[in-house]
Amino acid sequence: MDKAKRNAVIAGNWKMNKTPAEAAALINEMKPLVEGADCKVVLCVPFVDIDAAVKAAEGSNIEIGAENVHFKANGAYTGEISAEMLTACGVKYVVIGHSERRQYFGETDQTVNLRTLAALNAGLTAIVCVGETLEQRELGYTETLLKFQTKMALTNVTAEQLKNVIIAYEPVWAIGTGVTATAEQADEGNGFVRQALAEVYGKEVAETVTVQYGGSMNAKNADELLSKINVDGGLIGGASLKAEDFSIIVKAASK
Ligand code: PEP
Repeated sequence: MDKAKRNAVIAGNWKMNKTPAEAAALINEMKPLVEGADCKVVLCVPFVDIDAAVKAAEGSNIEIGAENVHFKANGAYTGEISAEMLTACGVKYVVIGHSERRQYFGETDQTVNLRTLAALNAGLTAIVCVGETLEQRELGYTETLLKFQTKMALTNVTAEQLKNVIIAYEPVWAIGTGVTATAEQADEGNGFVRQALAEVYGKEVAETVTVQYGGSMNAKNADELLSKINVDGGLIGGASLKAEDFSIIVKAASK
């Protein structure tokens, strides 16, 4: 296995936090702290913050992402945002299938797949989230579930399109709970994702895909998590709302 073949990507997921003015202020605080990082630095922000975030990040190494995307190009889908609308606003990445969307907003493996295809067709990089609940882990289904979710999300995604896919392994029990997976659990989960990729696209292609870990990654545990062979970066919730903590994680990924 060769970690050097893959891009390290640290992505913040701000969830439902920050007004446009607060978003600009936080990005301005972060810019000097992450400048020159040897990894990709992405901030996925609420829809209403995109314009302010893109402007604030201009000329820096921070790229802006969204937290969701609809799978239709346009039409009678009140409250939804299309992939073309996002790219027109300067968005480069989008989080798809976050467990909070699966849990609270009826997201299914099928809609995750449709959103992924729509994002890729529009030229976005899709950050596709997969992860098991504590109950599924305790029943021994982690491997089966991670492989199933990964394959379902990527149905009809070509090997060429896969170049614009990042998978984030996010154990549901570790998101926003302060309970982090051990580095070994993170490495194992990411490894299951990579095996699923290898089963569909072959080992060589699977080795090139960035697989992040997400779930209470913070300034203290990032070093150990990111040292694992299968952990190519992080999807960061809470700690991405604090400039200094986020920059420490970015630095850990740059080593
Ligand atoms: C997330 O929202 O994807 C996440 C990992 O959150 P947190 O870092 O707060 O657990």
